[in-house]
Amino acid sequence: MNNTIREILKSRYSISDDIITLADSVMAEIKPAIENVQKIVEYNQLKVTAAMIENNLSDFHLNDSTGYGYNDTGRDTIEAIYSRVFGTEDALVRPQIISGTHAIILCLFGVLRPGDELLCVTGEPYDTLKDAILGKNCGSLREYNISYSQVDLKNGKPDYNGIREKINEKTRMVLIQRSRGYSLRPTLDIESIKALIEYIKEIKEDIICFVDNCYGEFTEIYEPTEVGADVCAGSLIKNPGGGIAPTGGYVVGKRNIIEQCAYRLYAPGVGKNCGPSLQFNRLALQGLFYAPMIVGEALKGSIFISRFFERAGFKVHPSYNEKRSDIVTAIEMGNRELLISFCRGLQKAGPVDAYISPEPWDMPGYNHQVIMAGGSFIQGASIELSADAPIREPYVVYVQGGINFFHAKLGAMKALQNIIDEGLYAIKLD
Ligand SMILES: *Cc1c(COP(=O)(O)O)cnc(C)c1O
Repeated sequence: MNNTIREILKSRYSISDDIITLADSVMAEIKPAIENVQKIVEYNQLKVTAAMIENNLSDFHLNDSTGYGYNDTGRDTIEAIYSRVFGTEDALVRPQIISGTHAIILCLFGVLRPGDELLCVTGEPYDTLKDAILGKNCGSLREYNISYSQVDLKNGKPDYNGIREKINEKTRMVLIQRSRGYSLRPTLDIESIKALIEYIKEIKEDIICFVDNCYGEFTEIYEPTEVGADVCAGSLIKNPGGGIAPTGGYVVGKRNIIEQCAYRLYAPGVGKNCGPSLQFNRLALQGLFYAPMIVGEALKGSIFISRFFERAGFKVHPSYNEKRSDIVTAIEMGNRELLISFCRGLQKAGPVDAYISPEPWDMPGYNHQVIMAGGSFIQGASIELSADAPIREPYVVYVQGGINFFHAKLGAMKALQNIIDEGLYAIKLD
Protein backbone atom coordinates (compact mmCIF):
# COMPACT_ATOMS: atom_id res chain seq x y z
CA MET A 1 0.00 0.00 0.00
CA ASN A 2 1.38 3.39 -0.71
CA ASN A 3 2.41 5.57 2.19
CA THR A 4 -0.49 7.98 2.16
CA ILE A 5 -2.95 5.10 2.49
CA ARG A 6 -0.86 3.51 5.24
CA GLU A 7 -0.77 6.87 7.02
CA ILE A 8 -4.51 7.47 7.01
CA LEU A 9 -5.20 3.88 8.11
CA LYS A 10 -2.84 4.39 11.05
CA SER A 11 -3.74 7.92 12.04
CA ARG A 12 -7.50 8.00 11.46
CA TYR A 13 -8.44 4.33 11.94
CA SER A 14 -5.79 3.11 14.42
CA ILE A 15 -4.85 0.12 12.25
CA SER A 16 -1.46 -1.37 13.08
CA ASP A 17 1.43 -1.84 10.67
CA ASP A 18 1.15 -5.64 10.91
CA ILE A 19 -2.44 -5.63 9.76
CA ILE A 20 -1.75 -3.23 6.90
CA THR A 21 1.13 -5.38 5.75
CA LEU A 22 -1.08 -8.47 5.87
CA ALA A 23 -3.74 -6.67 3.83
CA ASP A 24 -1.14 -5.69 1.24
CA SER A 25 0.01 -9.24 0.86
CA VAL A 26 -3.56 -10.52 0.55
CA MET A 27 -4.29 -7.95 -2.17
CA ALA A 28 -1.56 -9.44 -4.32
CA GLU A 29 -2.81 -13.00 -3.78
CA ILE A 30 -6.42 -12.33 -4.69
CA LYS A 31 -5.78 -10.43 -7.91
CA PRO A 32 -6.82 -13.23 -10.31
CA ALA A 33 -10.00 -13.97 -8.32
CA ILE A 34 -10.93 -10.30 -8.40
CA GLU A 35 -10.38 -10.05 -12.14
CA ASN A 36 -12.72 -12.96 -12.62
CA VAL A 37 -15.50 -11.07 -10.84
CA GLN A 38 -15.33 -8.30 -13.45
CA LYS A 39 -16.54 -10.69 -16.17
CA ILE A 40 -19.66 -11.54 -14.18
CA VAL A 41 -20.30 -7.86 -13.49
CA GLU A 42 -20.02 -6.94 -17.15
CA TYR A 43 -22.37 -9.68 -18.30
CA ASN A 44 -25.00 -8.82 -15.71
CA GLN A 45 -24.74 -5.10 -16.39
CA LEU A 46 -25.46 -5.80 -20.05
CA LYS A 47 -28.35 -8.08 -19.13
CA VAL A 48 -30.00 -5.55 -16.79
CA THR A 49 -29.52 -2.58 -19.11
CA ALA A 50 -30.94 -4.52 -22.07
CA ALA A 51 -34.07 -5.32 -20.04
CA MET A 52 -34.54 -1.62 -19.33
CA ILE A 53 -34.04 -0.58 -22.95
CA GLU A 54 -36.28 -3.35 -24.31
CA ASN A 55 -39.11 -2.35 -21.96
CA ASN A 56 -38.93 1.31 -23.04
CA LEU A 57 -38.17 2.47 -19.54
CA SER A 58 -39.04 6.13 -19.47
CA ASP A 59 -38.76 9.16 -17.23
CA PHE A 60 -42.43 8.99 -16.22
CA HIS A 61 -42.01 5.43 -14.90
CA LEU A 62 -39.84 6.88 -12.16
CA ASN A 63 -42.87 8.58 -10.58
CA ASP A 64 -45.06 6.80 -8.11
CA SER A 65 -48.66 6.17 -7.12
CA THR A 66 -50.61 6.43 -3.86
CA GLY A 67 -53.77 4.92 -2.39
CA TYR A 68 -54.85 1.73 -4.15
CA GLY A 69 -52.14 2.14 -6.71
CA TYR A 70 -54.25 1.46 -9.81
CA ASN A 71 -52.63 2.04 -13.21
CA ASP A 72 -49.12 2.40 -11.84
CA THR A 73 -47.19 1.99 -15.09
CA GLY A 74 -43.88 2.50 -13.30
CA ARG A 75 -44.57 -0.45 -11.02
CA ASP A 76 -45.72 -2.59 -13.95
CA THR A 77 -42.58 -1.68 -15.91
CA ILE A 78 -40.34 -2.64 -12.98
CA GLU A 79 -42.03 -6.02 -12.95
CA ALA A 80 -41.63 -6.44 -16.70
CA ILE A 81 -37.93 -5.62 -16.34
CA TYR A 82 -37.46 -8.09 -13.48
CA SER A 83 -39.22 -10.78 -15.55
CA ARG A 84 -36.82 -10.15 -18.41
CA VAL A 85 -33.73 -10.19 -16.18
CA PHE A 86 -34.76 -13.42 -14.45
CA GLY A 87 -36.15 -15.03 -17.60
CA THR A 88 -39.66 -15.51 -16.20
CA GLU A 89 -43.26 -14.97 -17.31
CA ASP A 90 -44.07 -12.56 -14.53
CA ALA A 91 -42.80 -10.83 -11.39
CA LEU A 92 -43.99 -9.24 -8.19
CA VAL A 93 -41.64 -6.47 -6.99
CA ARG A 94 -43.17 -4.41 -4.21
CA PRO A 95 -42.36 -2.11 -1.32
CA GLN A 96 -45.14 -3.94 0.55
CA ILE A 97 -42.89 -7.02 0.62
CA ILE A 98 -40.74 -6.05 3.58
CA SER A 99 -38.01 -8.71 3.56
CA GLY A 100 -36.69 -11.88 2.03
CA THR A 101 -38.63 -13.90 4.58
CA HIS A 102 -41.83 -12.15 3.54
CA ALA A 103 -41.18 -12.82 -0.16
CA ILE A 104 -40.53 -16.51 0.55
CA ILE A 105 -43.64 -16.78 2.74
CA LEU A 106 -45.76 -15.43 -0.12
CA CYS A 107 -44.64 -18.33 -2.27
CA LEU A 108 -45.26 -20.94 0.40
CA PHE A 109 -48.66 -19.69 1.51
CA GLY A 110 -49.68 -18.46 -1.93
CA VAL A 111 -49.18 -21.82 -3.61
CA LEU A 112 -49.62 -24.57 -1.02
CA ARG A 113 -53.07 -25.85 0.00
CA PRO A 114 -54.26 -28.14 2.83
CA GLY A 115 -53.09 -31.68 2.23
CA ASP A 116 -50.02 -30.61 0.25
CA GLU A 117 -46.46 -31.28 1.35
CA LEU A 118 -43.45 -29.00 1.20
CA LEU A 119 -40.11 -30.75 0.77
CA CYS A 120 -36.91 -28.90 1.56
CA VAL A 121 -33.99 -30.59 -0.20
CA THR A 122 -31.14 -28.47 1.16
CA GLY A 123 -31.36 -29.34 4.84
CA GLU A 124 -32.83 -27.00 7.41
CA PRO A 125 -34.34 -23.90 5.84
CA TYR A 126 -33.30 -20.41 6.89
CA ASP A 127 -33.92 -19.64 10.57
CA THR A 128 -36.82 -17.23 10.06
CA LEU A 129 -38.78 -19.82 8.04
CA LYS A 130 -38.96 -22.38 10.81
CA ASP A 131 -41.89 -20.78 12.63
CA ALA A 132 -43.69 -20.18 9.35
CA ILE A 133 -43.41 -23.86 8.46
CA LEU A 134 -43.76 -25.63 11.80
CA GLY A 135 -44.61 -23.03 14.47
CA LYS A 136 -47.48 -23.26 16.94
CA ASN A 137 -50.24 -20.64 17.18
CA CYS A 138 -48.75 -18.40 14.54
CA GLY A 139 -50.61 -19.46 11.41
CA SER A 140 -47.86 -21.79 10.25
CA LEU A 141 -48.15 -24.19 7.32
CA ARG A 142 -48.57 -27.03 9.81
CA GLU A 143 -51.66 -25.35 11.29
CA TYR A 144 -53.17 -25.30 7.80
CA ASN A 145 -52.53 -29.02 7.45
CA ILE A 146 -49.66 -28.54 5.03
CA SER A 147 -46.99 -31.04 5.95
CA TYR A 148 -43.24 -30.64 5.76
CA SER A 149 -40.37 -32.95 5.10
CA GLN A 150 -36.69 -32.43 4.62
CA VAL A 151 -33.66 -34.07 3.07
CA ASP A 152 -30.33 -33.04 4.52
CA LEU A 153 -27.32 -32.39 2.35
CA LYS A 154 -24.82 -35.22 2.16
CA ASN A 155 -21.20 -34.08 2.23
CA GLY A 156 -22.47 -30.63 1.32
CA LYS A 157 -24.32 -31.87 -1.78
CA PRO A 158 -27.97 -32.71 -2.48
CA ASP A 159 -28.74 -36.29 -1.48
CA TYR A 160 -30.35 -37.54 -4.68
CA ASN A 161 -31.44 -40.91 -3.36
CA GLY A 162 -32.84 -39.36 -0.21
CA ILE A 163 -34.85 -36.95 -2.34
CA ARG A 164 -36.30 -39.73 -4.49
CA GLU A 165 -37.41 -41.55 -1.33
CA LYS A 166 -39.11 -38.50 0.16
CA ILE A 167 -41.08 -37.41 -2.90
CA ASN A 168 -44.65 -38.72 -2.71
CA GLU A 169 -48.07 -37.97 -4.18
CA LYS A 170 -48.56 -35.09 -1.70
CA THR A 171 -45.30 -33.35 -2.56
CA ARG A 172 -46.40 -30.15 -4.24
CA MET A 173 -43.39 -27.90 -3.79
CA VAL A 174 -39.67 -28.37 -3.36
CA LEU A 175 -37.72 -25.65 -1.55
CA ILE A 176 -34.12 -25.17 -2.59
CA GLN A 177 -32.02 -22.73 -0.58
CA ARG A 178 -29.12 -21.37 -2.62
CA SER A 179 -27.10 -19.53 0.02
CA ARG A 180 -25.76 -21.14 3.17
CA GLY A 181 -27.91 -19.20 5.67
CA TYR A 182 -26.62 -19.48 9.23
CA SER A 183 -24.82 -22.75 8.61
CA LEU A 184 -21.49 -23.96 7.33
CA ARG A 185 -22.89 -25.95 4.45
CA PRO A 186 -21.64 -24.85 1.03
CA THR A 187 -23.66 -22.58 -1.21
CA LEU A 188 -25.43 -24.33 -4.07
CA ASP A 189 -24.20 -22.94 -7.37
CA ILE A 190 -26.37 -22.49 -10.45
CA GLU A 191 -25.01 -25.59 -12.14
CA SER A 192 -25.96 -27.72 -9.13
CA ILE A 193 -29.39 -26.09 -8.92
CA LYS A 194 -29.97 -26.91 -12.60
CA ALA A 195 -29.03 -30.57 -12.17
CA LEU A 196 -31.10 -30.87 -9.01
CA ILE A 197 -34.23 -29.43 -10.64
CA GLU A 198 -33.84 -31.69 -13.68
CA TYR A 199 -33.63 -34.68 -11.37
CA ILE A 200 -36.70 -33.67 -9.36
CA LYS A 201 -38.80 -32.93 -12.46
CA GLU A 202 -37.95 -36.35 -13.83
CA ILE A 203 -39.38 -37.99 -10.74
CA LYS A 204 -42.52 -35.84 -10.65
CA GLU A 205 -43.02 -33.32 -13.40
CA ASP A 206 -45.58 -31.07 -11.74
CA ILE A 207 -43.61 -30.39 -8.56
CA ILE A 208 -43.06 -26.65 -8.18
CA CYS A 209 -39.35 -25.99 -7.78
CA PHE A 210 -38.90 -22.91 -5.63
CA VAL A 211 -35.49 -21.35 -4.96
CA ASP A 212 -34.73 -19.10 -2.00
CA ASN A 213 -32.40 -16.82 -3.96
CA CYS A 214 -31.38 -14.48 -1.09
CA TYR A 215 -27.78 -13.25 -1.49
CA GLY A 216 -27.41 -15.11 -4.79
CA GLU A 217 -28.61 -12.56 -7.37
CA PHE A 218 -25.98 -11.46 -9.92
CA THR A 219 -23.17 -13.50 -8.37
CA GLU A 220 -23.24 -15.72 -11.46
CA ILE A 221 -24.40 -15.06 -15.00
CA TYR A 222 -27.60 -17.12 -14.71
CA GLU A 223 -30.39 -16.98 -12.16
CA PRO A 224 -32.24 -20.09 -10.90
CA THR A 225 -35.31 -19.30 -13.02
CA GLU A 226 -33.13 -19.42 -16.14
CA VAL A 227 -32.12 -23.00 -15.39
CA GLY A 228 -35.47 -24.57 -14.59
CA ALA A 229 -36.78 -23.12 -11.30
CA ASP A 230 -40.51 -22.35 -11.47
CA VAL A 231 -40.21 -19.48 -9.04
CA CYS A 232 -37.61 -17.71 -6.93
CA ALA A 233 -37.68 -14.95 -4.34
CA GLY A 234 -35.41 -12.56 -2.51
CA SER A 235 -34.94 -9.25 -0.73
CA LEU A 236 -34.27 -5.82 -2.24
CA ILE A 237 -32.15 -4.76 0.72
CA LYS A 238 -29.81 -7.53 -0.33
CA ASN A 239 -28.35 -7.92 -3.85
CA PRO A 240 -30.97 -6.79 -6.38
CA GLY A 241 -31.71 -3.45 -4.68
CA GLY A 242 -28.13 -2.38 -5.34
CA GLY A 243 -27.88 -0.58 -1.99
CA ILE A 244 -30.39 1.99 -3.26
CA ALA A 245 -33.82 0.37 -2.83
CA PRO A 246 -35.03 1.45 0.64
CA THR A 247 -37.11 -1.72 1.23
CA GLY A 248 -38.90 -4.37 -0.80
CA GLY A 249 -38.85 -7.92 -1.97
CA TYR A 250 -39.41 -9.76 -5.23
CA VAL A 251 -40.89 -12.98 -6.51
CA VAL A 252 -40.29 -14.00 -10.12
CA GLY A 253 -41.67 -17.04 -11.91
CA LYS A 254 -44.53 -18.65 -13.80
CA ARG A 255 -47.53 -16.38 -14.34
CA ASN A 256 -50.02 -18.46 -12.34
CA ILE A 257 -47.65 -18.71 -9.38
CA ILE A 258 -47.04 -14.96 -9.32
CA GLU A 259 -50.79 -14.40 -9.38
CA GLN A 260 -51.23 -16.65 -6.35
CA CYS A 261 -48.44 -14.79 -4.53
CA ALA A 262 -50.11 -11.44 -5.27
CA TYR A 263 -53.45 -12.77 -3.96
CA ARG A 264 -51.67 -13.73 -0.80
CA LEU A 265 -49.83 -10.40 -0.48
CA TYR A 266 -52.96 -8.25 -0.98
CA ALA A 267 -56.29 -10.05 -1.14
CA PRO A 268 -57.70 -13.00 -3.10
CA GLY A 269 -59.15 -11.59 -6.31
CA VAL A 270 -57.36 -8.24 -5.93
CA GLY A 271 -53.82 -9.29 -6.75
CA LYS A 272 -51.14 -7.39 -8.58
CA ASN A 273 -53.22 -4.62 -10.14
CA CYS A 274 -53.13 -2.88 -6.77
CA GLY A 275 -50.29 -1.79 -4.54
CA PRO A 276 -49.12 1.82 -4.43
CA SER A 277 -45.47 2.32 -5.24
CA LEU A 278 -45.16 5.31 -2.85
CA GLN A 279 -41.58 6.51 -3.37
CA PHE A 280 -40.30 3.18 -4.51
CA ASN A 281 -40.20 3.16 -8.31
CA ARG A 282 -37.15 5.30 -9.03
CA LEU A 283 -35.16 3.77 -6.19
CA ALA A 284 -36.00 0.18 -7.16
CA LEU A 285 -35.04 0.83 -10.78
CA GLN A 286 -31.89 2.75 -10.00
CA GLY A 287 -30.95 0.05 -7.49
CA LEU A 288 -31.46 -2.69 -10.07
CA PHE A 289 -29.28 -0.79 -12.52
CA TYR A 290 -26.51 -0.52 -9.91
CA ALA A 291 -26.95 -4.07 -8.62
CA PRO A 292 -24.51 -5.92 -10.92
CA MET A 293 -21.70 -3.51 -10.03
CA ILE A 294 -22.57 -3.41 -6.32
CA VAL A 295 -22.76 -7.21 -6.13
CA GLY A 296 -19.37 -7.25 -7.85
CA GLU A 297 -17.96 -5.01 -5.13
CA ALA A 298 -19.48 -7.26 -2.47
CA LEU A 299 -17.98 -10.33 -4.16
CA LYS A 300 -14.55 -8.72 -4.26
CA GLY A 301 -14.93 -7.74 -0.61
CA SER A 302 -15.87 -11.34 0.26
CA ILE A 303 -12.81 -12.65 -1.53
CA PHE A 304 -10.58 -10.27 0.42
CA ILE A 305 -12.22 -11.00 3.78
CA SER A 306 -11.97 -14.72 3.20
CA ARG A 307 -8.24 -14.71 2.47
CA PHE A 308 -7.44 -12.02 5.05
CA PHE A 309 -8.97 -13.96 7.94
CA GLU A 310 -7.58 -17.24 6.68
CA ARG A 311 -4.10 -15.72 6.73
CA ALA A 312 -4.80 -14.38 10.22
CA GLY A 313 -5.40 -17.98 11.36
CA PHE A 314 -9.16 -18.57 11.09
CA LYS A 315 -11.19 -21.19 9.23
CA VAL A 316 -13.25 -19.55 6.49
CA HIS A 317 -15.97 -20.72 4.10
CA PRO A 318 -15.64 -20.50 1.18
CA SER A 319 -11.93 -19.99 0.63
CA TYR A 320 -10.92 -17.06 -1.56
CA ASN A 321 -10.28 -19.11 -4.69
CA GLU A 322 -13.42 -21.24 -4.61
CA LYS A 323 -16.28 -20.52 -6.99
CA ARG A 324 -18.96 -18.34 -5.38
CA SER A 325 -22.70 -18.29 -5.78
CA ASP A 326 -23.52 -15.79 -3.03
CA ILE A 327 -21.88 -12.85 -1.27
CA VAL A 328 -21.53 -14.45 2.17
CA THR A 329 -18.30 -15.39 3.93
CA ALA A 330 -18.49 -17.49 7.09
CA ILE A 331 -15.64 -17.20 9.58
CA GLU A 332 -15.34 -19.62 12.49
CA MET A 333 -14.59 -17.45 15.51
CA GLY A 334 -14.67 -20.35 17.97
CA ASN A 335 -16.12 -18.54 20.99
CA ARG A 336 -18.71 -15.98 21.97
CA GLU A 337 -16.28 -13.23 23.01
CA LEU A 338 -14.35 -13.30 19.74
CA LEU A 339 -17.57 -13.34 17.77
CA ILE A 340 -18.97 -10.27 19.54
CA SER A 341 -15.64 -8.46 19.37
CA PHE A 342 -15.43 -9.10 15.62
CA CYS A 343 -18.86 -7.55 15.10
CA ARG A 344 -18.00 -4.56 17.27
CA GLY A 345 -14.81 -4.00 15.31
CA LEU A 346 -16.62 -4.13 11.99
CA GLN A 347 -19.24 -1.71 13.28
CA LYS A 348 -16.45 0.80 13.91
CA ALA A 349 -15.95 1.03 10.15
CA GLY A 350 -19.60 1.79 9.38
CA PRO A 351 -20.37 5.17 7.82
CA VAL A 352 -23.42 5.40 10.10
CA ASP A 353 -23.48 4.59 13.84
CA ALA A 354 -19.79 3.75 14.03
CA TYR A 355 -19.75 4.83 17.69
CA ILE A 356 -22.39 2.27 18.66
CA SER A 357 -21.45 -1.10 20.12
CA PRO A 358 -23.73 -3.89 18.87
CA GLU A 359 -25.25 -6.31 21.41
CA PRO A 360 -26.85 -9.72 20.90
CA TRP A 361 -30.67 -9.44 20.99
CA ASP A 362 -33.82 -11.51 20.61
CA MET A 363 -34.49 -10.65 17.01
CA PRO A 364 -38.06 -11.48 15.91
CA GLY A 365 -38.26 -14.70 13.93
CA TYR A 366 -35.03 -16.22 15.24
CA ASN A 367 -34.80 -18.91 17.90
CA HIS A 368 -31.37 -17.80 19.15
CA GLN A 369 -30.05 -14.41 20.09
CA VAL A 370 -28.52 -12.71 17.09
CA ILE A 371 -25.87 -10.02 16.86
CA MET A 372 -25.83 -7.71 13.86
CA ALA A 373 -23.20 -5.17 12.93
CA GLY A 374 -23.69 -2.86 10.04
CA GLY A 375 -23.75 0.87 10.28
CA SER A 376 -25.75 0.96 7.07
CA PHE A 377 -27.75 3.77 5.44
CA ILE A 378 -30.76 1.48 5.06
CA GLN A 379 -31.79 -0.29 8.24
CA GLY A 380 -30.58 -3.88 8.22
CA ALA A 381 -29.40 -3.73 4.62
CA SER A 382 -26.95 -6.55 4.25
CA ILE A 383 -25.82 -5.58 0.76
CA GLU A 384 -24.06 -2.86 2.74
CA LEU A 385 -21.07 -4.14 4.69
CA SER A 386 -22.47 -6.16 7.57
CA ALA A 387 -21.72 -9.03 9.89
CA ASP A 388 -24.24 -11.09 11.76
CA ALA A 389 -24.34 -14.25 13.76
CA PRO A 390 -26.61 -16.36 15.90
CA ILE A 391 -25.09 -16.67 19.35
CA ARG A 392 -24.65 -20.43 19.27
CA GLU A 393 -21.93 -22.98 18.70
CA PRO A 394 -19.67 -23.11 16.72
CA TYR A 395 -19.71 -19.30 16.92
CA VAL A 396 -19.52 -18.51 13.26
CA VAL A 397 -19.81 -14.95 11.99
CA TYR A 398 -21.36 -14.33 8.57
CA VAL A 399 -19.98 -11.31 6.73
CA GLN A 400 -21.46 -9.90 3.55
CA GLY A 401 -22.01 -6.86 1.46
CA GLY A 402 -19.85 -3.87 0.98
CA ILE A 403 -21.07 -1.19 -1.41
CA ASN A 404 -17.47 -0.73 -2.38
CA PHE A 405 -14.48 -2.96 -2.11
CA PHE A 406 -12.23 -0.55 -0.23
CA HIS A 407 -14.81 -0.12 2.48
CA ALA A 408 -15.17 -3.87 2.90
CA LYS A 409 -11.40 -4.09 3.17
CA LEU A 410 -11.41 -1.41 5.87
CA GLY A 411 -14.15 -3.28 7.75
CA ALA A 412 -12.09 -6.47 7.73
CA MET A 413 -9.05 -4.62 9.07
CA LYS A 414 -11.10 -2.94 11.83
CA ALA A 415 -12.63 -6.27 12.87
CA LEU A 416 -9.24 -7.94 13.13
CA GLN A 417 -7.75 -4.92 14.90
CA ASN A 418 -10.55 -4.99 17.45
CA ILE A 419 -10.12 -8.61 18.49
CA ILE A 420 -6.39 -7.98 18.88
CA ASP A 421 -6.85 -4.72 20.81
CA GLU A 422 -9.28 -6.41 23.20
CA GLY A 423 -6.59 -8.99 23.95
CA LEU A 424 -8.72 -11.85 22.63
CA TYR A 425 -6.45 -12.89 19.79
CA ALA A 426 -2.83 -12.76 18.78
CA ILE A 427 -2.32 -12.78 15.07
CA LYS A 428 -0.14 -15.64 13.79
CA LEU A 429 1.42 -14.25 10.67
CA ASP A 430 2.90 -16.83 8.33
C1 LIG B 1 -31.42 -13.27 4.34
C2 LIG B 1 -31.97 -14.57 3.99
C3 LIG B 1 -33.36 -14.84 4.06
C4 LIG B 1 -34.40 -13.82 4.47
O1 LIG B 1 -33.96 -12.87 5.29
P1 LIG B 1 -34.67 -11.47 5.58
O2 LIG B 1 -33.82 -10.95 6.67
O3 LIG B 1 -36.05 -11.80 6.01
O4 LIG B 1 -34.63 -10.64 4.37
C5 LIG B 1 -33.80 -16.08 3.66
N1 LIG B 1 -32.94 -17.01 3.22
C6 LIG B 1 -31.62 -16.79 3.13
C7 LIG B 1 -30.73 -17.87 2.62
C8 LIG B 1 -31.09 -15.57 3.52
O5 LIG B 1 -29.78 -15.34 3.42
